[in-house]
Amino acid sequence: MTQRHITIVGAGQSGLQLGVGLLDAGFDVTMVSNRRPQEILEGKVSSSQCIFHDALEHERTLGLDFWPDAPTVDGISFTIPHPEVRGEKAINWASRLDGPAKSIDQRLKFPRFMEEFVARGGELLFEDAGVGDLERYASKSDLVIVAAGKGDIATLFTRDAARSAYEQPQRALALTYVNGMEPRPEYPAVSFNVIPGVGEYFAFPALTSTGPCEIMVFEGVPGGPMDCWKGLTPQEHLETSKNILDTYLPWETDRASDVELTDPNGVLQGRFTPTVRHPIATLANGRQVLGLADVVVLNDPITGQGSNNASRCAASYLQSITEHGEAPFDAAFMQATFENYWSYARHVTQWTNALLAPPPPHVLEILAAANESQEIAGRFVNGFNNPADYQEWFMTPDKAAAYLATATS
Ligand SMILES: Cc1cc2nc3c(=O)[nH]c(=O)nc-3n(C[C@H](O)[C@H](O)[C@H](O)COP(=O)(O)OP(=O)(O)OC[C@H]3O[C@@H](n4cnc5c(N)ncnc54)[C@H](O)[C@@H]3O)c2cc1C
Repeated sequence: MTQRHITIVGAGQSGLQLGVGLLDAGFDVTMVSNRRPQEILEGKVSSSQCIFHDALEHERTLGLDFWPDAPTVDGISFTIPHPEVRGEKAINWASRLDGPAKSIDQRLKFPRFMEEFVARGGELLFEDAGVGDLERYASKSDLVIVAAGKGDIATLFTRDAARSAYEQPQRALALTYVNGMEPRPEYPAVSFNVIPGVGEYFAFPALTSTGPCEIMVFEGVPGGPMDCWKGLTPQEHLETSKNILDTYLPWETDRASDVELTDPNGVLQGRFTPTVRHPIATLANGRQVLGLADVVVLNDPITGQGSNNASRCAASYLQSITEHGEAPFDAAFMQATFENYWSYARHVTQWTNALLAPPPPHVLEILAAANESQEIAGRFVNGFNNPADYQEWFMTPDKAAAYLATATS
């Protein structure tokens, strides 16, 4: 059997994981990155990248768990402030995850994965790939996969209107990486707060380039008071983060009163439109390329699923490719490979899009019922590891009613 050559454009979560998996499976792999390792390490943060148990397992299977002692996220707490009484909580519950989650700053992770990719025999090229380059790669490869995340080249793949719920960004996003946050007294967890009409705030432990830290994530409703990040210096960004907590979530202020930035690049602000794209792009020379992870299914980070999806998409494509034998990687293969992944990812997209909208009555009922029921809280929390489960009880009023009627308090 001749060795087949695959080019992957974009050395991020999905590209690197797939690249390493393909090398182990005996493929010849070229990876194209528009950033060098040092540039990534010394650059700005790009994500909060909390990855739950099952997606971490895909990395572990490939021998990519280089930070076994990194801080763990052992659960999720959920809070909605009282609408009238400042400092009171209308809803407040927490549950442990069945298996821990972890967040390794992509500034650490991607350079280490690149090193591993090269050590296992991969070719790593540093180019900011354009459409012309894709044609060049396609003429020399059996398959070209575009794993460029939110990079401009992703727009080569056209929007799938039937599968995309939104045409505009739904949140103004901000990240603040900090040291000095008081740990939660019970166990390390994502501390998730919903401020109706304003947005969401969550914080959790992570590992960054300076060591263990906490990541503060702000999801502001566009045009609202939490849409306030443009043009700030890093120090102003930190102060704004603290002011938001002080205004809406005083219990979070108590934990964050002494926080400092991990480094001047530990801040990010931006927004993007959640979009599902058609998985195949046809180049001028007639060759076709396949999109991977965020390029094809881009969700808002409100549910913290992007890196999880990237890991799962890489694992799913790896399986499709290895099972394909010596058959050509044609358009039918590409479409089937994507549909196989979409059979999982559609659940993540539907759930994530639902959480961006004001909660319908059955969701409010579930969130309130979890105040009284550890079973409901546990099922909601563990759904972050397996969002397909929400279809069974959370997404529709009839299934929610049936579940609530049987759940133990
Ligand atoms: C504010 C925020 C918070 C988030 N928090 C979480 C979270 O808690 N949990 C979670 O699971 N996900 C989270 N995510 C999402 C997650 O980071 C992404 O979904 C994930 O990294 C996507 O993986 P990917 O492989 O598709 O792309 P990426 O990891 O973004 O990698 C793409 C790579 O391609 C490179 N590239 C781009 N264009 C080119 C080109 N033309 N040529 C060569 N290289 C190119 C880029 O430099 C980049 O390194 C968050 C995202 C944001 C914005």
